[in-house]
Amino acid sequence: MREGLEDTAEAVRFDRVTKRYGEHTVLDGLDLAVGRGERVTLIGPSGSGKTTILRLLMTLERVTEGAIHVAGEPYSHMPAGQGGGGRAGKLVPASERYLASRRRGIGMVFQHFNLFPHMSVLENVVEAPVHVLRESRDAAEVRARELLGMVGLADKVDARPTRLSGGQQQRVAIARALAMRPEILLLDEVTSALDPELVAEVLDVLRDVARATDITLLCVTHEMGFARDVSDRILMFDQGRIVESGRADELLDDPGHDRTRAFLRAVR
Ligand code: ADP
Repeated sequence: MREGLEDTAEAVRFDRVTKRYGEHTVLDGLDLAVGRGERVTLIGPSGSGKTTILRLLMTLERVTEGAIHVAGEPYSHMPAGQGGGGRAGKLVPASERYLASRRRGIGMVFQHFNLFPHMSVLENVVEAPVHVLRESRDAAEVRARELLGMVGLADKVDARPTRLSGGQQQRVAIARALAMRPEILLLDEVTSALDPELVAEVLDVLRDVARATDITLLCVTHEMGFARDVSDRILMFDQGRIVESGRADELLDDPGHDRTRAFLRAVR
């Protein structure tokens, strides 16, 4: 085990993580560390395993081998004998209950907004803080209004999501994710389902979030301009491995690998 300080400075760590579906290896012994407050963008061709990394962090998938740590604590695994003795240091696969408590610190915005259609915009944002975090409705509403103001939707609090444009719906989804006060925010191709003219408004809001908070960001995106603006670091993936990792401007302007050059040519 390394020094405690180093551990707590890490938001996320993948140790030799392999994910397989049957014979198909999607992630292959992946080592990845993301610092607290760091902004990391994952790029690479379709099928290279980027979304799987986010899905593992959302606990929508389980690792096949290896382990994930979040904020220096086991995440895919838990100490053996939680709630009853157990040998010190031994880890076992996390139980559903353990995962449910740990994933609260991680927010996610998806390609499809998944808002509750029968609730107003405000109710969509208030719901989880009240039911999951047990915040008072009044406090949750005050915060929801603040967040909806931040994403430019102060005048839409009473609207139904279906009356909003895709860009506005995605901005509600961003406010909803932030309402859970996550330490880590996962962004999975958040503009891919939007009409081109709505992309900019969503990316502008995310740039504001990146500027105004110290949240750790992990993004999967094909928007290279956005990746350049918000990322401290970009990781280029291919076939479940990191081909290249570097500072955003360095990797985008002067990639070191042919695979990265070919990919960047294709997406630009
Ligand atoms: P990316 O985000 O880079 O496009 P993904 O992480 O979504 O890649 O997918 C990586 C690979 O894993 C793809 O080949 C995909 O077909 C496969 N995959 C993802 N989910 C499943 C699943 N539930 N069952 C089988 N294969 C899957």
